[in-house]
Amino acid sequence: MFRVDGFIFFHNRSIYIHQQMLEEKVFTYLWVVEKIPYRFSFDLSRISKAFFRDLANIAREKGLHRRLGSQARSLAKKFRLQEISGLEISDALMLVEDLVDMYVRNISETERFRKTRKRALLLPHCARKFMDKRCQASFNPEIPSYSCEHCSKDCLVNKADELAEELGYDVFVLAGSSCVPQVLKKNGYEGVVGVACSHELKMGGDFLQGIGLSGQAIPLTKNGCANTEFNMETLRKIMSSS
Ligand code: SF4
Repeated sequence: MFRVDGFIFFHNRSIYIHQQMLEEKVFTYLWVVEKIPYRFSFDLSRISKAFFRDLANIAREKGLHRRLGSQARSLAKKFRLQEISGLEISDALMLVEDLVDMYVRNISETERFRKTRKRALLLPHCARKFMDKRCQASFNPEIPSYSCEHCSKDCLVNKADELAEELGYDVFVLAGSSCVPQVLKKNGYEGVVGVACSHELKMGGDFLQGIGLSGQAIPLTKNGCANTEFNMETLRKIMSSS
């Protein structure tokens, strides 16, 4: 068991207690219990950008694919995914397949997303630069979302938040995909851009499909409980599409 900010982690489960609540000794607010999406950690930040280009190309070619099999295996081999990331082959293949699924859905939603006007950006709270009190973000349990206070220029959440403001998106910094329904239910959004690990993006994509919203997904290039990363160039490109 270990703690980060208001989270307590037990093996593959996390129990969320917000820090402010702890400080105010209000312990009744014991909120999300959810599985950490992957049982393995990955860091694809050192993998060539061409890997993601090839992923998108495979997704385009496969269209409504179901069985990737040998293509996932050869892509993992071509980009030395196992060697660079240290993943087991089965985990590497699962990751490649989930990423292709995500690209397939992005491609199939591109045109519809371009036509959307009122949009939301969903960011993972684990991409904040700090997971303790150094992060000045305030948390609103009613939404539930963090609101970035821009304490660190080089924080990914800060950069994405500023981009969202420039492009007219509402921003939500979430503790997990279980917060998505609550965040989206009231505001009349037409389009949603979500950043998360590919497994959570799959669940989020299913939810959006169920409620008829158009979405575009940005995968984390490094997962985990803290200091996760995503590509700002990709985010800008997708968020700017119209
Ligand atoms: S820039 Fe925002 S999200 Fe990042 S650490 Fe500061 S307050 Fe938290």
